[in-house]
Amino acid sequence: MPITSINPATGQPIQSYTEHSPQQVQEKIAQTQEAWKAWRLTSMSTRTAKLRQLATVLRNRKQQLAALMALEMGKPVKQGLAEVEKCARCSEYYAEHAGAHLQDQLIPTEASKSYVSFQPLGIVFAIMPWNFPLWQVIRFLAPALAAGNAALLKHASNVPGCAIAIEEMVLEAGFPQFIFQTLLISSKQVNAVLEHPYVMAATLTGSSPAGKEVAQKAGSLLKKVVLELGGSDPYTILADADLEAAAEACVNSRLINSGQSCIAAKRFIVEAPIVEAFTGLMLQKMKAKNMGDPLDETTDIGPQARADLREELHEQVQQSIAKGAVCLLGGEIPPGKHAFYPPTLLTNVRPGMPAYEEELFGPVAAIIRASDEAEAIAIANDTEFGLGSAIFTRDLEKGERIARNELQSGSSFVNQLVQSDSRLPFGGIKTSGFGRELGMFGIHEFVNIKTISIK
Ligand code: NAP
Repeated sequence: MPITSINPATGQPIQSYTEHSPQQVQEKIAQTQEAWKAWRLTSMSTRTAKLRQLATVLRNRKQQLAALMALEMGKPVKQGLAEVEKCARCSEYYAEHAGAHLQDQLIPTEASKSYVSFQPLGIVFAIMPWNFPLWQVIRFLAPALAAGNAALLKHASNVPGCAIAIEEMVLEAGFPQFIFQTLLISSKQVNAVLEHPYVMAATLTGSSPAGKEVAQKAGSLLKKVVLELGGSDPYTILADADLEAAAEACVNSRLINSGQSCIAAKRFIVEAPIVEAFTGLMLQKMKAKNMGDPLDETTDIGPQARADLREELHEQVQQSIAKGAVCLLGGEIPPGKHAFYPPTLLTNVRPGMPAYEEELFGPVAAIIRASDEAEAIAIANDTEFGLGSAIFTRDLEKGERIARNELQSGSSFVNQLVQSDSRLPFGGIKTSGFGRELGMFGIHEFVNIKTISIK
């Protein structure tokens, strides 16, 4: 079956790629293993020089990359340019800090010398989603290469052009041939790659069902896996919050990447006395966003990445309305052959509705009323997910206490939207996955934490 990219703004096919056969995949794994044997012995300065070069290559190609993302998955170009810059900074972060993160750690014992060293593992297999087609890859790849590993990528089937561009850029940056390769395969071939004895570990960013399947397979093979999965991040707005600033952060978080971000704000839990005022601000700010051609620099919201995903989202909205949610904005599919979905605001959202229980992966905000702070926190945690969370209050001490001790998530932000940052660990709890990317914790996921003890 060919892998075909389709422009979600027009419904027109862009390009078809021939899928790599099982035989080609086996050959590629062997090539990458050969490349790794030399790469694992290179010095840290050799690796970090290439990471700096990768940052330069990314910046040189930023216009082309932003246009490619716009065409393949509908990301507005101004957000695409920001994504490329974020990738470049991530490469530079690991160029600067990988040496310190992977420094031997001396630990005095009865031996004459004992310490921990961080040794490369081998090939890390990455299964990645389409929503941040460059960032999701670079945030695993930069630390993996810095740690002396090799990598293979199975990217989402709707962004093959992005997958190929990343492979080209890694070569252009001076990394050895085959140290990183893209496999153009469907998810049916994933198990065969996981089973290969040269593949030492896997990382999947994507939905919780895909994560469960890959985790089961990797578990049966006793291979390490990191999972960055779905989320339904709760943003709790307490009665004493700066409502204007809170609504601004909430709308921006909900609508980033046309609503298709794992750490987008998805549920807005608002204390009763301010529900009407907060809802009014959300409505005003969501209405002001400009939906249109992702190639236009003024566009805030592009199409959804695929028409079938847009249909799924619409079904969740319709079911929520059927169960009593009130739709104040959007909620209707615009005519035409494309995958656009308008900013949509639901209020009166309650348990039992998809907008309360499930991840809504699109520009749909769900407002949930809470009678007080305790109920707001209980609602925030009343989810199978645990990726990010945010709390808005003018009382910083209270905000920090709630963020630190009460909210069940891998990160919790006070008076700001949740964002990933190369310097800080990123990941989830509950069905949002396990393991961490970025920062020092991210680079330690795919190394052999090896004890050396000398008598
Ligand atoms: P997805 O359908 O799970 O796909 C992600 C990747 O997994 C794709 O490469 C996909 O390949 C592959 N895949 C799907 N089913 C598989 C299976 N059974 N076995 C092996 N591989 C499989 O997710 P998506 O629609 O691309 O992305 C949206 C989801 O990702 C959302 O839930 C979002 O919250 C989550 N996400 C999480 C993070 C995070 O950091 N936690 C970041 C971004 C996105 P095909 O394309 O070929 O199906």
